[in-house]
Amino acid sequence: MTTQAVKIEWMKAPARPGQAARPKSAVAQELAEILASGIPDRATLRRILATTDADELEVIRSAAEQTLLQHCGDTVRLRGLIEFSNRCVLDCYYCGIRRSNKAVERYALELDEIVETAQWCGQKGYGSIVLQSGERRDAKFTKLVTDAIRAIKTETRTPELPDGVGITLCLGEQSAETYREWYDAGAHRYLLRMESSSPSLFAALHPPEQSHAARVACLRSLKELGYQVGTGVMIGLPGQTLDDLVDDVLFFQELGVDMIGMGPYIPHEQAVLPGNPAVLDADTRLQLALKMIAATRLLLRDVNIAATTALQALSETGREQGLRFGANVIMPQVTPPRVRRMYTLYDGKPCLDDNAEQCATCLEGRINSVGRRILKNNWGDSAHFLNRNMA
Ligand code: SAH
Repeated sequence: MTTQAVKIEWMKAPARPGQAARPKSAVAQELAEILASGIPDRATLRRILATTDADELEVIRSAAEQTLLQHCGDTVRLRGLIEFSNRCVLDCYYCGIRRSNKAVERYALELDEIVETAQWCGQKGYGSIVLQSGERRDAKFTKLVTDAIRAIKTETRTPELPDGVGITLCLGEQSAETYREWYDAGAHRYLLRMESSSPSLFAALHPPEQSHAARVACLRSLKELGYQVGTGVMIGLPGQTLDDLVDDVLFFQELGVDMIGMGPYIPHEQAVLPGNPAVLDADTRLQLALKMIAATRLLLRDVNIAATTALQALSETGREQGLRFGANVIMPQVTPPRVRRMYTLYDGKPCLDDNAEQCATCLEGRINSVGRRILKNNWGDSAHFLNRNMA
């Protein structure tokens, strides 16, 4: 069966939360039994990632959805994504806003606009926001973020959210002191992707000044400080193998992270990648990304997993498919449309012209279309974090 045929079958499949799949083939039936018997081992994870058989994919999808419903419930948690600056001191080879890209116009939002955007999210009942930007480590930047966190925490208080919206940061590698300052100011979740858990692949994606070891050290430091910690990888990178991806999922487990944000790698015209070997076609990358979501859900069970915007860049229904494969977080775009185009990490970024209001309406329909509902006025913390702190 071609990938295209598989994709169409997924789209047609009705949402049936709570209903187990009825596998057709004997092999798919055998896989269903393996998945029902407990947490997948390395061989099963590899099998999940390798299959392109439609029956097996439905078995995987259904098992991941059941695991999600059992451990996290049927709600989708929203984080309004505020991309407040594309200024960056790093030169990641895959990224459209890398330092060396002179073709991109640089911007930074003022404090007031960041806070107003967060307020809009609070009023909409989003419950949480993400502050994301290119990477900077200067004192002025650190202070802007500290001031923004403090102001957002006080300015977004409502009767439903007496402590203001939850704040996730996605601001790259920083010193432990900076991470502490932001935590003390009121941020409580941090997303720092590994990009790949393979040290050699990491090295192929970044200039020598960035290291795999430094990134792992940052993740450990964030965890020690008390943040809910998220990581993730890009899927379908040039040179990435299925075994690398299995290692990535096992690495999430080893690190004990609370949240996962991962998506397909999408080439950017002005980036240095792709090189050799050629990038997998879009359908294969999307399918691989969905299988990664399912594998992670089946292994880690109670973590939050995002259906990322990059999924939607590859398919109109990419995020909904992510939800059906076990994701439970969506990050609606709330970056002011006037600067949104300048924050293009990869080509084909969706929703460039929609305003935040349009995104909100469109999203609710998309979420309901797959039988799930939005968790409103709630930080939507990771059940894994809550469970590990109760243990
Ligand atoms: N500088 C911050 C946040 C911005 S980048 C940080 O490093 O955390 C956010 C994420 O976008 C990256 O972690 C990366 O995984 C993803 N990204 C960047 N370029 C991409 C591309 N070409 N395709 C897919 N994802 C990409």
